Amino acid sequence: MQNLYLFSIKNKIDLQSNHNLFKSNLFYELSFIVKNKIILFNNKNCFLKFRELKKLKIKKESFYFLGKKDKTVFMGASVSLRKLKAVFKDKVFSLVNLRDCINLVSNEHVSYLSALFFLERWKNENKFCSKCGSKNKFNNLTNYIECKNKSCLKRIFPKIDPTVIILIKNNDKILLARSKNWKQNLYSCIAGFCEPNESLEQTVIREAYEEVGIKLKNINYLFSQFWPFANNLMVGFEAISCSIKLKINKSEIEDAIWVTKEELLSLKNKKKLILPKKYAIAHSLIAHWQKS
Ligand SMILES: [Zn+2]
Repeated sequence: MQNLYLFSIKNKIDLQSNHNLFKSNLFYELSFIVKNKIILFNNKNCFLKFRELKKLKIKKESFYFLGKKDKTVFMGASVSLRKLKAVFKDKVFSLVNLRDCINLVSNEHVSYLSALFFLERWKNENKFCSKCGSKNKFNNLTNYIECKNKSCLKRIFPKIDPTVIILIKNNDKILLARSKNWKQNLYSCIAGFCEPNESLEQTVIREAYEEVGIKLKNINYLFSQFWPFANNLMVGFEAISCSIKLKINKSEIEDAIWVTKEELLSLKNKKKLILPKKYAIAHSLIAHWQKS
């Protein structure tokens, strides 16, 4: 189940420390992001002492606070490629997608890099105030954005989209489905966004009915996962289908199948079915059922 928390920071708040993050007795672990790509130096982040951090001459506003653990502050910085090349003349670095970082750095690093990836995108998408159109200012230590117009000062906080994902069961079978544009043979659980005026349980009921035409009962929360690639908080449920007959909504779902544990294994072995990657919540939901 630990894969579920790959993208979640375990040490966001250090209760022992004060809030002064720029101090000479602290160490900094700095991650850089350039145009949505993470910078890795020999597949590592950059460790710096306070004076080394100062030498980089990066504006305070370009830093993101990602977390703190003992005397180490985890920071992110959004810089241009030109600046990075100028600062690290002698170092070799590579630009890596967040997904690819999963296989290159430790799980703890992935969680900080996920926060950096999320915050950078959120900041770039909110450069201007939605109320008055003035420029926004990013408060990098407490992660909020505020309108620079003194008569407005509208504040916004990071936004995530709640999304349900459902392990649908019927006797000894579960339902797996695939969308049209997915990789060949990839099947997963039914999922969908919460709409306004809906509880999570209502979303579960609506999505199952909309996508495969079935009614659900015994809806039960299992676990959740922050998914940085699309700003989602994935909320995992299990539920029992009242019937096995499907009415597939072809505009959303290409195929849906009921499988027993043995059938799932056999399809996987014959390479006729691929399950979501280990770090996806769908993988944990299916594994949860396989172990039951
Ligand atoms: Zn404003």
